[in-house]
Amino acid sequence: MAAKYSSKINKIRTFALSLIFIGFIVMYGGVFFRSNVWAMTIFMLMGLLCIIASTVVYFWIGLLSTKAVQVVCPSCKKPTKILGRVDMCMHCREPLTLDPALEGKEFDERYNKKSAT
Ligand SMILES: [Zn+2]
Repeated sequence: MAAKYSSKINKIRTFALSLIFIGFIVMYGGVFFRSNVWAMTIFMLMGLLCIIASTVVYFWIGLLSTKAVQVVCPSCKKPTKILGRVDMCMHCREPLTLDPALEGKEFDERYNKKSAT
């Protein structure tokens, strides 16, 4: 059940990494349209956009990391970062919370939304 979630920072990092791959695949796809200059240019631009987007996402992770609270995971004793009210340990996926009211409760990402109390 817990495997369904992963640390938010890790999730965003995976997203940024996949954007780079998509960018390269799209650019590579442009090679098959060598005969059509326009099609090739569009593929190359789209690939480039994906790579630029991933750079932006990586920059965003950097910003988020500075806002995240660094704690030592009680389960695996490694330092990890918490983003929002509840998050997961990056190493062992132990659910962590900064809110004492939520302590001991089952991990639920909905606690991060303001409507949930
Ligand atoms: Zn841990």
